[in-house]
Amino acid sequence: MSSTLPNNRTLQILAAADEGGYGVLAAIAYNVEHVTALVRAAEASHSPLILLLFPSTLKQLPSLVFAASAACRAASVPISLHLDHAQDEQQIRDVVNTMPFDSIMVDMSHYEHEENLRKTRELTKLCHERGIAVEAESGRINGGEDGIADTGELEALLTSPDEVEDFLDADIDILAPSIGNIHGDYPPEGPKLDLGRLERIHSQLRGRARLALHGTNDFSPKLTQECIGNGVTKFNVNKLLLASYHHFIKENADQPITKLIDQGIEVVQRETEKWMVVCGSANRC
Ligand SMILES: [Zn+2]
Repeated sequence: MSSTLPNNRTLQILAAADEGGYGVLAAIAYNVEHVTALVRAAEASHSPLILLLFPSTLKQLPSLVFAASAACRAASVPISLHLDHAQDEQQIRDVVNTMPFDSIMVDMSHYEHEENLRKTRELTKLCHERGIAVEAESGRINGGEDGIADTGELEALLTSPDEVEDFLDADIDILAPSIGNIHGDYPPEGPKLDLGRLERIHSQLRGRARLALHGTNDFSPKLTQECIGNGVTKFNVNKLLLASYHHFIKENADQPITKLIDQGIEVVQRETEKWMVVCGSANRC
């Protein structure tokens, strides 16, 4: 973990979580209603938050990143802005010079291990020079979700101890391991995670990087707390917070737009507050 980023907002939020033994929601926003709801939930719950945007959203709604950044800065609780699954090297090089992210997931996991590491090391250096913290994915998390490419034919690879060392050596700040978690929905029997592996990775890190967990669709509160108990501080969420929003929009599509905006925000805020309690981050700030 870079010692050159003492004021980095994402790292400060995760360090406090590690110390306090709780998890922080790292929540995807696709639009300004989501941003508004997530920030309101954090403020109402006195909870820290990490706000995630997908690279595809930067192309779809370029102004959202600036609105989200302003909302983070104006909030009464610590909130950072993170770019999730940045897989395009050129986009990363552009973003670090033009957009106000606190942290970026440099996701080169579609390359073979050596190439992945080489690119990760190079891009991490660039991000650190700009004061931006870096997350990387070790192993390969399978599946896809709305906004990120599916891994398709590539096989899932569980994170090994050697890989953890390799990524620490590349100077990353946050590690997203592959422990049986997948992007998108789980089969009917639900998630089957290797929690022993998670615990071993956490001990191996010894505070040199924080642990992020991806692929949390269909997680129960109990499984979420088990993962946090095994060292996860950055808990990525998509469907857990947004499923009821999608349902609400579908059911009320004939209603006036202002009503959809107001009530849509309320739906997301409610779900977010619930999961902040599950993660143990409520009333921490
Ligand atoms: Zn992910």
